[in-house]
Amino acid sequence: MGHDEVIRQAVDAARRTNHADVAAAWVGSLSKRDLPARSAWGSYVVLKNLPAHAFSPSAHYSATQCGVCGLTEDAELDDRVATYPYQVRHTGIAYAAADLITFPDRARTDPSHDDIECLHAILAALRALPDSAQLTELQKSLIRLFPSNKFQRMILLETFGYAGILRVPDHQAHWREFVTNDDANKRQPPEFFKREWEYPVRFWTGAGGVDDQAVAEHFGGW
Ligand SMILES: [Zn+2]
Repeated sequence: MGHDEVIRQAVDAARRTNHADVAAAWVGSLSKRDLPARSAWGSYVVLKNLPAHAFSPSAHYSATQCGVCGLTEDAELDDRVATYPYQVRHTGIAYAAADLITFPDRARTDPSHDDIECLHAILAALRALPDSAQLTELQKSLIRLFPSNKFQRMILLETFGYAGILRVPDHQAHWREFVTNDDANKRQPPEFFKREWEYPVRFWTGAGGVDDQAVAEHFGGW
């Protein structure tokens, strides 16, 4: 297939995806831990502003990798998506593209009363964090609010970073503007333990808080 064809399919898949559908599947996944249904919203957020582009060797990392999207020149769609359980990797463009392409054929349910309660509890917990809060506190604030392990809570919070819901001053969210692979990987906080988190949420502190406008854009219906 190759880089250029994966990118063409990724751009096309994002264009055909309905934001309200993937956001509804995400909310509808919360109380039942429906991870395949939960994945697509994050993929859509990351791919929404992906520019159509030809392979462009990274200027900062291996030249076998594209500096824009991180794919190699001989990239293929990530078929882990078809064989759940798979590891969610929204910023892997080959993963995100396959995720959106297969989304219409995956089972999902409309948000239930319980799902919407989970969403409200998550947002309330995030809004209640003090200015001094760091990433560990951020992750722990969601314990017991919806069925999840630490890894699943981190992915949810990383998705909130891409979506601009967790506000990170001076580090743009994918939802507003595509972040190139080189740019995202170059931006690392000085604290080593924060680097296990994806960009931009790895820079989040309680002072950034929650962006109410972004919450309304994604979840206004609930
Ligand atoms: Zn590329």
